[in-house]
Formats: sequence, structure tokens, C-alpha cells
Amino acid sequence: MSTFVAAFDVGTTSLKAILVTRDGKICHERKAALTTRMTEDGLVEQDPQEWFEAMCSVTCSWWKAGVKPSSISIIAMTGQMQDLIPISLEKRALCRAILYSDMRAVAESEHINELFGKSFLREQLANTMTPASILPKMLHWRRQFPQSFRRTHRYLFGAKDYLIMMLCDRLVCDPTTASTTGLFLHGVQRWYTDILEKCDFSVSLMPDIETAGSVVGSVNRSASKWTGFLQGTPITCGVGDAMAATLGAGIAEMNEAYIYLGTTAWVASFVPSVPLKLPANDAIYTLAGQDKDKDLRIAPVLNAGNIVSWALTLVGCKPGDDATRFYELLEKEAAAAGDVAPLTFVPYLNGERCPIQTDGQCGAFVGISAGTTMGQLARAVFNGLAQSLRWCAELLDVSENGALRVVGGGARSAVWLQAIADAFGCPLIVSGRSEIQPALGAASIAMQTIGWADTRSHFPLDDDGRVLIVPDVDLSMAMRDGHKRFKRLSEVIVGLERRS
Ligand code: ADP
Repeated sequence: MSTFVAAFDVGTTSLKAILVTRDGKICHERKAALTTRMTEDGLVEQDPQEWFEAMCSVTCSWWKAGVKPSSISIIAMTGQMQDLIPISLEKRALCRAILYSDMRAVAESEHINELFGKSFLREQLANTMTPASILPKMLHWRRQFPQSFRRTHRYLFGAKDYLIMMLCDRLVCDPTTASTTGLFLHGVQRWYTDILEKCDFSVSLMPDIETAGSVVGSVNRSASKWTGFLQGTPITCGVGDAMAATLGAGIAEMNEAYIYLGTTAWVASFVPSVPLKLPANDAIYTLAGQDKDKDLRIAPVLNAGNIVSWALTLVGCKPGDDATRFYELLEKEAAAAGDVAPLTFVPYLNGERCPIQTDGQCGAFVGISAGTTMGQLARAVFNGLAQSLRWCAELLDVSENGALRVVGGGARSAVWLQAIADAFGCPLIVSGRSEIQPALGAASIAMQTIGWADTRSHFPLDDDGRVLIVPDVDLSMAMRDGHKRFKRLSEVIVGLERRS
């Protein structure tokens, strides 16, 4: 009988799950949709219980398909980071999870930066304190819901950490997820007690920091009832999705960049952790890895796959419609449009962190004529998203030699990939398994834990469908010519929004 690592990735649009055999074969891939609640005033929330129900529906489908619970050797986890999830003594979420992209804590973030000094904080944390950071969210939530705050026993900061709690009662956080909180001292890798105390939070509210590969517990009796996992199945801490996607993409070398295209996106590469050299641009994040000598340098982009989802409305997609058909239609229209210069799309419909910081509503089409077609608008959306990623790569100092790897659900769009290859002027290597790379990365860590792989780089990747996308000479020239215009327009529009 085969034995498996069961790996889960709690993304924004869906929970993905795979079973991985000892020799790296991926079986029983599953996906369960998740809902996000968004409001005009910047709230972005999900129900943690829905994450757990999604996990239960996946495991139930595995058992129905004939997988034996006794064949699961270990459970591996990854998922969205920088969420605020207050937990009661009874180990229940006290409210919906406040997601990484939630921008309600603007005033609190400004207040913290004024109080402690923006550059001092950046030196301690290796990252900038923004409304997306956890501390401003904690302050905001406590002010808004004092009664719920009094019932808060601990906080969790990663979606996968909620699943871990539901499976084995432990409240944990890995160093990569901790790096996104604004409460983690990068140098010594522990919670920033001083700032917590100065803000009247006890350090006992924080989860335990555990390394990604540690076994943090095993499935308890009640979780076994819900999920069907055997009681006692070991669970690894796992790691936040940025690191898991990096490992799943097979990135191991320093300064080898890759792009993740999910609901949000990032451009990232490993850099030496010692000496810590903060990037010139404070929108670039530095996340602790699980290898002590390597940090993950990352340009986090909030407007990415979610903007493609929005663009489906251009081709008639309405709320509640099955999106699959409309992704195909959007793709077809955009592909047929060809070169659309000088039509430019500025993609910052939501708040943005990188390459330009804004609280939102800065989306624009510029250069529309009476003859502009819907297909051209669609093409301009993909081009604008690609230009924005290229700008991030410049801020990260990514060299354009060689090919860039691309992973994530957005890599299903051939037009988007072509636009990125054209904007970057370099070939892209796209995994046939782009959507499940984070789950694969988490699985690779657990495989090391149980001795199925020596090192992460020895993890045998099962990736038959890998393709190479090469830049088109003419379109690449047009994108390169349009890059300055894209940046200038973005700065002007974001500047207008700041003044209004
Ligand atoms: P996450 O886990 O953050 O939700 P995924 O890797 O699952 O991210 O990717 C989801 C994103 O991929 C969605 O925002 C969606 O717009 C985009 N996406 C999915 N299918 C397509 C497609 N065919 N073309 C373009 N984008 C797509």
C-alpha cells in the first residue's frame, strides 16, 4: 500500500490539497472554494470555520475515493499569512479572520510609526509597519470590539495555523509567517515583547514559534471524528505560503527570482540573511526562512489575480456565474487584440503595497479612443499587471539573465504569461502544476521531517507539464517602450488619489 504526505494550502480563493508519495508522485489533487467578504471601506475577511470545513470536505472525498486514513504518514500545511485570528480559551475563532489585504487599520499604523519611529521599527523588524501588519490590526480590533478582546486567549496569524489548532489544539506560528506580523524581531527570531507591552498586549497572547519542519502535535480524537484522519497522525508546523511557493517552485539558489501569480502576487528571491542589508525601497519585505542563512526578499503585490477576476466583468461575467467560461472568453478576446499600445491600464483598483503604495481606488484605463474594443481593454489589463510586476522586479534588483519561473493559479492564462515574458524581456518557465506549488513546498518540508528526502533540493518534483514561454520580439519592444509611461501614469494617478 502507498503511503502519503497529505499537504494543504489555504489560499484566498480556495483550499488546495494533494497527497504525495515517497517518490514525489502527486495524487488525489483536490480544491474547495472559499468565500471572501469585502466591503467598500477596506474590510477583507474570511470565516476560519470555512477553512476547516473545506479541509473536512477534501479528506472526506479522499476516503470516498478509497484512500485509507492509515496511509497518511504526516500532515503538511501552508497558507495565507498576515491574518489576524483572535482565539478564545475554548479554541474557537472570536470573529472572522481579518486578512492580509484588509486596510482598515491605517490610523493605527500611522500612530505606531510616529510613536516608535518608522526607520527604527524597520531596522528591528526588517520590514515596514503598514496597515496590513498585525499590530495595527490588533489595536484596531481591540478598540472596536473591547468585549471580544477580553475573551481573547491567543492570536493566530496564519490560515494554516487555524487548521493546526483544530487538528491538535496547539497554537503555533512559523518564522516566515511571524516575519509578516510587525511583531517579530528578525535578528533574534522571537516576538517583540517591548512593543507588545508598550501597546498593552501580553506576550502570552502570542502563538508559539516553531520551525516549519517540527512536528507540533498529532490529530486528536475530535479532529479525527471530523476529518477522518487517524487519531495520532503527526502534523508539521509548515510554513507561510510565500516560503512554501518558493520551495515548491524549486528555488534554492541565492538571487534566483521567481513570480507567484495568485489572487495576490509576488516577485521574490533568496538573499543571504547575514549581514542583513535592508533594500532601498521600504515596500520590499524580508521574510525569515527556515534555513538560518537565507532570507526571502519579496515584493508583495495586492493587485494581481483578483484584477483578472474583476476583468471578467468586461466579458459579461456576473456575480454567481461560473467563472470558467468567462476566463476562456477573456483570454480569447485579449489574445486577438494584439499590440494595444499606447492604451495603458493602471491596475491599482485595491490598496497596493508594491511597486507603489496606495490605499486604493487608483485603477485607470488611459488612452481610450472611440475605436477601443473590449478585447483591447482586456489585453491592456494583462499588460498593466505585467508592467507592475516588472517594476517590482526592478525594485528587487532582479537581473534579467536566464529564465524566470512562474507559479500560481494565474499562470493558467497564456496571455498574462506572454505579457510578463514581453515586459521582462526574458523567457518564463511555467510549471504544469503551477497552482499546487505551495502545497508541494509544504509537502517537501514534511518529507524531510519523516526522512523521505535528504534536503529540500533533493525533493523529487513531479512536473511533466513544464513549458517555456519566450518573449515576442515586437511585443517585447512595445512593452519596454511603454514601461516608462506606465510608471509615470501610475505615479500621477496615485498622487492624485493622495491629494484628494
Ligand atoms: P490563491 O491561493 O491566492 O487564491 P491561486 O494560486 O489559487 O491563488 O490563484 C487564484 C487566482 O488565479 C485568482 O485570482 C484568479 O483570478 C486567477 N486565475 C484562475 N484561473 C485563471 C485563468 N484561467 N486565467 C487567469 N487567471 C486565472
